[in-house]
Amino acid sequence: MQPSDTTSPVVAEVLAVGDELTSGQCVDTNSAWLSRRLTALGLRVAWHTTAGDQLPELEQALRTAASRAQVVVLTGGLGPTEDDLTRQALAQAAGVELEFRPELWEHIRELFRRRGRSVPEQNRQQALLPRGAGPLHNPQGTAPGIAMPLPGQEGPAAWVFALPGVPAEMHQMWPQVEQELRRQGLAQGVVVERAVRVFGPGESDLQQRLPGLFARGGNPQVGITVSGAVMTLRITARGTSQQECQRRIEPVWQQIHQVLGEQIFGYDQDELQHAVARLLHRQQLRLATLEWGTQGRLACWMSQVPQAQQVFHGGQVFSCWPPEATWFAGAREPLPQGATDEKVLAWAARAARDQLGREVLVLATGPFPPEDAPDDPRRQVRFALAWRGGVELWRRRYTGHPQVRRVRAARQALDALRRWLLGGGASRT
Ligand code: ATP
Repeated sequence: MQPSDTTSPVVAEVLAVGDELTSGQCVDTNSAWLSRRLTALGLRVAWHTTAGDQLPELEQALRTAASRAQVVVLTGGLGPTEDDLTRQALAQAAGVELEFRPELWEHIRELFRRRGRSVPEQNRQQALLPRGAGPLHNPQGTAPGIAMPLPGQEGPAAWVFALPGVPAEMHQMWPQVEQELRRQGLAQGVVVERAVRVFGPGESDLQQRLPGLFARGGNPQVGITVSGAVMTLRITARGTSQQECQRRIEPVWQQIHQVLGEQIFGYDQDELQHAVARLLHRQQLRLATLEWGTQGRLACWMSQVPQAQQVFHGGQVFSCWPPEATWFAGAREPLPQGATDEKVLAWAARAARDQLGREVLVLATGPFPPEDAPDDPRRQVRFALAWRGGVELWRRRYTGHPQVRRVRAARQALDALRRWLLGGGASRT
């Protein structure tokens, strides 16, 4: 097998095994975890496959994987029960017998002895390995892993690593796979990944403003994912060293920053609340939230930031509109009777600010429009930001599923606050 070079990464497939996965009773988190590990080692995960606990299907999935990938990492089906068929499938796909390995049987017996239990005879099958395979030690469980080459249909053999399905056991055994991949020259490259987080523009808008950046096959590769109006531009560079990867990333990084500027709110794992918290902290300000439309999301997010104690005063979540004047007992002005939603929201935000002190900003989201009245003027959601020197009001129209709209509105409120803290004014967004 040829070691990888940096331009054509080693191709890997992740194979998750189990009826509990194909029937939807259990969510396959192992494949995502393994993909991240393999990608970080410079391999390109080209396929995720999920197979049920049927021997012919499993064998077929293994043959297919071995014919198109150089590395196959499989989880599940190594237990002692009748439906745990991974070892048989591996032996059949390789055209070899299963052999009894006394040292594995001894490990299994020792685990049972330590637990003060006698060893069920059916666990004996966990001491069977396809001939020519190496075991992967499982310190916590009875199911040893398996490492073996599996011939593809025509081309060279693929390396297959079979690990237990239980995530904690699989994670603990992963370093053995990593070591073997390095030893085989299959994990030579370095991959550096950076994510730029953006709020505001849509996906097609980004494509237009950054033409050519998202073309496939480049190094670095830039991909976009979208979640609740937050875009993540993920830059992945491959090379032989960290420095080479950084060098490849640099011009793309500059280009993205030149084009998107302040629309970038953070990097990697950042959420908008982290960006807001950093700015509040720097300016020694604290935030309080009043929420009618966003169902407590602002308070929930802000109370989880690392600096929460310094930057988040607290939040109130309401379900009735207009607000009851008793909530704002310290208000200098009375609740304006018959006023527009906008004026009422501004009044509530001001009243809260007046009670909470000079260093506290109040961010308020108005009620969400009724679902059944598309032409209602209240289809727009009102926002207010009150600070020591004034109040700013703005509004936005949201479409899409109600839960998505509420998340977007909450994020919009935070992004507006972020821009205000940067000196641009909230309603400019
Ligand atoms: P053991 O002998 O320890 O049971 P095993 O290899 O036979 O190991 P499985 O029986 O296939 O593992 O799975 C055991 C449990 O591990 C499942 O019931 C499920 O909770 C979890 N699991 C299995 N596969 C996955 C997966 N792909 N993602 C997340 N969890 C999984």
